[in-house]
Amino acid sequence: MSNKPVRVRFAPSPTGPLHMGGVRTALYNYLFAKKNNGTFILRIEDTDQTRFVEGTQEYIIDALNWCGISPDEGPGIAGNHGPYIQSERKSMYPKYAEELIEKGWAYYAFDTAEELDAMREQAKSMKMPNWQYNSITRSSMKNSLTLPADDVNARIANGEPYVIRFKMPRNTDVRFEDVIRGWVVVNTNNLDDKVLYKSDGMPTYHLANIVDDHTMEISHVIRGEEWLPSAPLHVLLYEAFGWDCPKFAHLPLLLRPDGNGKLSKRDGDRLGFPVFPTDWTTSEGELYSGYREKGYFPGAFINMLAFLGWNPGTPQEIFSLDELVASFSLERVAKAGAKFDAEKTRWFQQQYLRATSDEILADELALLIDGNYDKTFLTAVCRLMKERATFISDIPKEGDYFFTEPREYDEKTLRKKWKEDTTEIMSSWSNKLATLEQFSTENIEQSFKQYLEDINKGIGAVLPAFRLLLTGKGMGPSMFEICALLGKEESIQRMDKGIVKIQELIK
Ligand code: GLU
Repeated sequence: MSNKPVRVRFAPSPTGPLHMGGVRTALYNYLFAKKNNGTFILRIEDTDQTRFVEGTQEYIIDALNWCGISPDEGPGIAGNHGPYIQSERKSMYPKYAEELIEKGWAYYAFDTAEELDAMREQAKSMKMPNWQYNSITRSSMKNSLTLPADDVNARIANGEPYVIRFKMPRNTDVRFEDVIRGWVVVNTNNLDDKVLYKSDGMPTYHLANIVDDHTMEISHVIRGEEWLPSAPLHVLLYEAFGWDCPKFAHLPLLLRPDGNGKLSKRDGDRLGFPVFPTDWTTSEGELYSGYREKGYFPGAFINMLAFLGWNPGTPQEIFSLDELVASFSLERVAKAGAKFDAEKTRWFQQQYLRATSDEILADELALLIDGNYDKTFLTAVCRLMKERATFISDIPKEGDYFFTEPREYDEKTLRKKWKEDTTEIMSSWSNKLATLEQFSTENIEQSFKQYLEDINKGIGAVLPAFRLLLTGKGMGPSMFEICALLGKEESIQRMDKGIVKIQELIK
């Protein structure tokens, strides 16, 4: 590795919300930067103004902040390599395009869209469906390589529209070393003369990307595999300018859960999981759901994403962001596409929920429920429920009985466990409870066991009915804890009311 300071960039185009594949690219850039005491930069690549989608830039920054991977430099953030939005750098690019022309690496082309279409059609009729503007065809096109210099100058002076194209060398092997893929060799015969600059004064992605990476002193380009085919052109552009090439690392694709193709925007909601970090509503009012709004913790989301294409080489799976930084290396990023796994994603969230303190969960829970509850009570509810929950919102959903008396009783349990003598057993158990002085979990448990002995019944015959009366459910955490938490008055009231209701139900 060179001794240059590590500076990496995440360079999305503002053409829509950030897909989770994009977040993973940002994450790997962030982890690599932090691991190497480097700088993580956000650059907005908006040279293609026709694809601009309002609100995207704000969305991206908000999503990165939520994930805890905020850029060190970027639009409206900080840094002395700005501006960080390409359209605001517009005036910087012409001189670089001209430099390439002067050096013989680029040329002006005047072919109109109609003329290019006609060429393609003609080629198609001659059974050559993939016509390209390249080292062979350029000699029969209208450009500064074929037209006399006077003509070229006159056309430019008259304001005739033109583009500047890269003069791709013929039959040359371009080699570069990708940190993840090793040596990549591509022959230029398959590459076309890409447009670098348009007479509307805007560079295309390729030119802007290279000029910006150079002027922003980017040391490593870490980006998705879909950019690998562009890398040979980029390498040649560095050579043309006489600049040092940054190191490249092309990340594996994120695949659909069945491994069949790239995970796309539409897949998520169709297959039942979000593909976006946070909710996104299109200008037509269509909602794409996000992990944040579904109730995922950012740490769980990031932990899951880190493992889509990378592994630490040890069995450890739960990593805080700091631990990811400490363990991350590009060398451990896989070449093969990574299959998204919705179940595993939920598993990460469960692990994070369980690892969160009951006190913190209680504060979050308080925001989700009506009414004012004592923090000690909410903390205890979280302690009892968190093993059974994936999201905080599951706690009041699954544990609604902590806040309201049951409105209905689980049918299956009722059918299977409410026998002829159950009404009587529950009535006298309720009476027993009423005599308890200290209404603690231990006392309730002890007294229940004693009661079972007295009536000569097993726990399985009696406990389900007790649960049904207090919670309405067939399953849940410790009944003695629930009963103690609800308190004597509430528990007895629920039991007595419930016995009457159930008798009505089973009549
Ligand atoms: N603007 C490109 C994108 O939208 C960035 C490619 C790169 O990182 O070089 O993904």
